Amino acid sequence: MTVRASNGCARAEVKVPAAVKTLLGSRINLLMHSTLKRLFLKSIFALKGNLASGVEPPARQFGGVEITPFRGGASASATISADFEIAWAFRGRGVEERALRGVRCRRNVPYLVRLLEERSIPITWATVGHLFLTSCERGACGLAHAEMPRPPKNWRWKGDWYRHDPCTNLKKDPHWYAPDLIQGILASKTRHEMGSHSFSHIDFSQDTSTGELVRRELEECIKIMAPLGLPLRSLVYPFNNMGHHYLDIIASLQVTAVRHRDARVRLSYPERSADGVFKLYESMNLRRTNSYDYFDKAMIFLEEAMKRHAAFHIWFHPSDPTELFEKEFHDIICYIATLRNRGEIWVATMSELAAYCEARQKVKLHVSRNANSIKIRVESSYDAVRFGNTDVTLRLPLSRLPKKCLMRSGLEEKLIDWKADTKGSRGGRSLLINVPITAEELEVVL
Ligand SMILES: [Zn+2]
Ligand SMILES: [Zn+2]
Repeated sequence: MTVRASNGCARAEVKVPAAVKTLLGSRINLLMHSTLKRLFLKSIFALKGNLASGVEPPARQFGGVEITPFRGGASASATISADFEIAWAFRGRGVEERALRGVRCRRNVPYLVRLLEERSIPITWATVGHLFLTSCERGACGLAHAEMPRPPKNWRWKGDWYRHDPCTNLKKDPHWYAPDLIQGILASKTRHEMGSHSFSHIDFSQDTSTGELVRRELEECIKIMAPLGLPLRSLVYPFNNMGHHYLDIIASLQVTAVRHRDARVRLSYPERSADGVFKLYESMNLRRTNSYDYFDKAMIFLEEAMKRHAAFHIWFHPSDPTELFEKEFHDIICYIATLRNRGEIWVATMSELAAYCEARQKVKLHVSRNANSIKIRVESSYDAVRFGNTDVTLRLPLSRLPKKCLMRSGLEEKLIDWKADTKGSRGGRSLLINVPITAEELEVVL
């Protein structure tokens, strides 16, 4: 057996020793094995209905110019959200579990921040509002947070909703306050999103909440986050109990994205509600299973998302076992980074994804062509205050590369980058251009 090896520019024929042949054989067997294993796993997920079709990206074509479903012309997006709550989510459980979760969460968050920074992967931290506090005090009436409304019903424990709140401070009870961890997340070179998981981890179900409770919980989060310059745009419903019946209130508070659980659909394009809040379908939550390798599941879902232009979304609890982050999460993050570096996946936080989808809907293009240039006027009704600044990516089929691309906005004119793309027009050449939402006109000079 000979293998052609590359050595700089020269290629040499190398004799392969018998032991290496055996190794190569077992490597091929291993590859075959893992491919078969994934195919088998995929058919199991399909049988379970996990790969059912979701919403498709609406077509946005204007005079032959497409606004691509995802930024940069990526085939799919990948979003990661963390339900960041320390002790607040586990009040209905025993003291031991709360303590264990607390210790693990405080150990895991700095590790996660480092890992995500190494791979430049921003995520959405759906944070319980109370964690922003450094301290709190019991009111004169003996209740914690007496000014906050209480849920109309609570089947998880008896007594006051804030019964477990120690009403002390970060130093004394670090599982109930976490401004230090939040600062650590915000100090990262990777710009993460701070989202909300309500102020006190309420259950948004019809019988355990009211519109007034939802409004006050979110207003409290907005109030606490504002001094840090953090707008509240993304919400994850605690206990994964959907609160879509409050989308009008949620929208009125300028929230633009909620995580959505659907028993059937795991891969979908984000779905816009009538109130302009995007439902982002969860694809999977991080865990370890004895029956298969969880990394394989992530690979299958990511590949499927790319095939159908869907948004992949994985979520986790930072208080989960550390080994889960060192193995499964680490491997998934590295794989997502590889796909992102190849331009196949766009890594977006929840609010970035909502902003892009909204801009895509609210932008119209007016295309005019002549022999030497293509002019694209951008008409937009996008609300940048609510959704935040974003780009839209245009894909233009072209037979030759342009001399330059110019962007105009008011009196300003500047050169704008483009990249060649082979995915868009069959066999032909096309350009991908990220255009800021503030642009009024784009000119491609041929
Ligand atoms: Zn408190
Ligand atoms: Zn939670």
